[in-house]
Amino acid sequence: MNSYPYDHVLYQPGQVCRTCNFLKPARSKHCSICNVCVAKHDHHCVWIMNCVGQNNISHFLCMLLSLSLLLTYGAYLSYTLLSKQLQQRATGHLDREPGNRHWGTGLSWSHYAAHWIWALGQDFRIGGIGLLALLTAPLAWSMFLYHIYLVWAGTTTNESSKWSEWKEYIEEGLVYKWVGTTTGVFAGSKDAETEPPVDWPIHSAQQLFRSEDGRPPGTLTDSGGISASWKPVRGLYEIENLYDLGFWDNLDDVFWPT
Ligand SMILES: [Zn+2]
Ligand SMILES: [Zn+2]
Repeated sequence: MNSYPYDHVLYQPGQVCRTCNFLKPARSKHCSICNVCVAKHDHHCVWIMNCVGQNNISHFLCMLLSLSLLLTYGAYLSYTLLSKQLQQRATGHLDREPGNRHWGTGLSWSHYAAHWIWALGQDFRIGGIGLLALLTAPLAWSMFLYHIYLVWAGTTTNESSKWSEWKEYIEEGLVYKWVGTTTGVFAGSKDAETEPPVDWPIHSAQQLFRSEDGRPPGTLTDSGGISASWKPVRGLYEIENLYDLGFWDNLDDVFWPT
């Protein structure tokens, strides 16, 4: 409860996890596979058979980076080993042309491919592992880069799906933002138990309203005009992400969480 404040957009204070029977901290989520609530829940990873959250997201990022580098290195290593074999075979064939001519020079695409298939067959342990590394490295890199993007955006995999829900509500014209100095009617419960004070560098008095029928709150008796205090939100860019402190501070929070 002391790690993150409630942003009143993705996380509302006072909500209880029915399984764990306690107040859900901001940014947490109950994982039905692990059967616990996980702080700063990112996702349940089937590869490590564990949730990724506040206490292991840094290890997860390091794993993705080392995995990406090792797969790339593995693909490169098997390329150089097999390429050496191809060069040796070609040099044997090119007795009259010594020198450092590359084995593939002047070959058509089909011949070039046929040479590689020959090389893969020469040592399938190197060829097979090399192919596997070549094909899976892009997956590891894209997963790593996606997580770097999430750090940059100050969000998590779990929260990014919540943000896309808000995006849909906005596109449907259902979201209103309170614009004014006085607090609106939907002020958060500043109850010390449900919403304990959190030492967080940024504060937000942002209040959003999600309408059921597209009309802003407090205008039901009006002649259908939009209230001066509630403005329709036109895009996600108008909504403040309380958890985004900027890339370096977000990264700091990943490695040294509050
Ligand atoms: Zn729970
Ligand atoms: Zn889990």
